Amino acid sequence: MTTDVLIIGAGPTGLMAANQLQRFGLDFIIVDSKAGPTVESRALAVSARSMELYQQLGLADTVLERAVKINGFHVYSNGKRKTSAVFDDIGEDLSDFPYMMVVFEQNKNETILYENLQAHNKTVMWNTSFIKLTEHADYVEAKVKTETGEETIRAKHIIGCDGARSPVRHQKDFSFEGGTYENKFYVADVHLSNDFDSRKLMLAPSDETFTAIFPMKGDNKFRLVGTLLPQYADKEDITFEDIKAEVSRCSRMKLEYEGVNWFSIYKLHHRCVDNFSKGRVHLAGDSAHIHSPAGGQGMNTGLQDAHNLAWKLAYHLKGYANADLLDTYNEERLPFAKWLLGFTDRGFTLMSGSGWFISRFRKYVMLNVMRLLFSTQNIKPRLFKTFSQTSYDYTKSSLSASDATQKLKFKAGERLPYIEPNFYLHFSAAQFHILHIAKQNLAPKTAANIQATFPFPVNIVEQKLSPAWQKLGVRSELFILVRPDTYIAYMADTFNESTWKTYLERYFLSRE
Ligand SMILES: Cc1cc2nc3c(=O)[nH]c(=O)nc-3n(C[C@H](O)[C@H](O)[C@H](O)COP(=O)(O)OP(=O)(O)OC[C@H]3O[C@@H](n4cnc5c(N)ncnc54)[C@H](O)[C@@H]3O)c2cc1C
Repeated sequence: MTTDVLIIGAGPTGLMAANQLQRFGLDFIIVDSKAGPTVESRALAVSARSMELYQQLGLADTVLERAVKINGFHVYSNGKRKTSAVFDDIGEDLSDFPYMMVVFEQNKNETILYENLQAHNKTVMWNTSFIKLTEHADYVEAKVKTETGEETIRAKHIIGCDGARSPVRHQKDFSFEGGTYENKFYVADVHLSNDFDSRKLMLAPSDETFTAIFPMKGDNKFRLVGTLLPQYADKEDITFEDIKAEVSRCSRMKLEYEGVNWFSIYKLHHRCVDNFSKGRVHLAGDSAHIHSPAGGQGMNTGLQDAHNLAWKLAYHLKGYANADLLDTYNEERLPFAKWLLGFTDRGFTLMSGSGWFISRFRKYVMLNVMRLLFSTQNIKPRLFKTFSQTSYDYTKSSLSASDATQKLKFKAGERLPYIEPNFYLHFSAAQFHILHIAKQNLAPKTAANIQATFPFPVNIVEQKLSPAWQKLGVRSELFILVRPDTYIAYMADTFNESTWKTYLERYFLSRE
């Protein structure tokens, strides 16, 4: 079999990569050793930035219908509700998805992405395990084991989306530095008959541990998460029955269990590669970085990796860009993965640390600080931007440049400013866009001349120089080159062909 891109692993990352490549019309094969999408709920939350990817795929409404939009939290201490915060629409004016947390479990993500592939006449080769990889000058060959025997797939590029243990990462000898946390973690999806608010996250810090209870879609369905007490750490085959009483004792909450759907214990690691790509082999998601689930960023980061890499592979393989464009995948995603490791590490240490100071801090200080933060008007947007991954930027990327002389409040490399509801729908098509902000629209002939400057199709989006743009520093005509992932590539006050060609030269016009 021959293809442009072979994706190994059909978890959320691999399935997002496949969906994106499908949008760009690229040929790909996706394989997974499992028999179908994940059955367990596993990762719980989808960020606003991931919702924007679903919007591009036309799936955002379906996700929201099947999800729970968390709108605040309650903090319990010694079994009593001590403090609460409401963050209804915390990201208002920042995204079409202004929710702090959308509970849409991993299995649902995989199912919706898989169904969308099928709707476009694509599928996953299930029950197909990657075994061996051989790299050649112009292609990569992967040996896979199917139900009927071994096969060889030849691809121009391979994406290893094969999770934390990544056989692809091992075969290509990527480094994966980091460590393993001492504490183990448990997750349990349970039915509770308590009369809890079905849209509030509940947090119950105690001296010994930290219990979090997330409402899930379905009658009285909740996810319990916490660190396993040390006495259970070395025990094999623990069931939820074994620790049920401890969860209630530590949280001091009278949890009335009706049943358990899923229970799992896992060891947490914090590790990251030192490069996301080696030649024609790229890693994305858990195969490239693993960290604690504090902040619910794991699955979302994999989805964003896949999005970033897919359009670059598409532009290169369609002949619109040179191979250097692929280096910007690592340039842009590695710093984020490293930042995330630090961010989740601090969160996890606070949640799970057992020292006197940290347990006191967790119980008496941290949650009051949280409540204060979530109720302070000018801090709320910042919290939203961080947790939703909408504030992360690629301003240091070599793909980001600006010749605009206006004093703008946004930079090349940032996510395009969100200016009004449904704004990103203008940029849904799988291509680059020119956003033209001015008092008057471009004349058709000028628009055609602009489009002809590019070695690939661009879609021109017209915006009036409105007060909203003026607030962001736009004083006169502005041209913004918007990447297929709605980040700003390049900006200029005018469309001067030679200046634009200078920008395009590095990755797009000097294609070989
Ligand atoms: C029990 C559990 C609970 C979790 N809870 C949370 C949470 O609450 N929040 C959070 O953010 N994250 C959580 N995570 C982590 C989250 O699941 C991952 O971050 C996310 O799944 C990463 O997606 P991925 O597609 O990169 O990798 P994975 O989901 O691991 O997918 C990898 C895929 O590759 C396939 N594969 C592996 N080897 C091969 C091979 N040789 N050939 C073919 N296919 C192969 C696997 O079958 C799998 O389908 C949890 C993980 C576990 C295990």
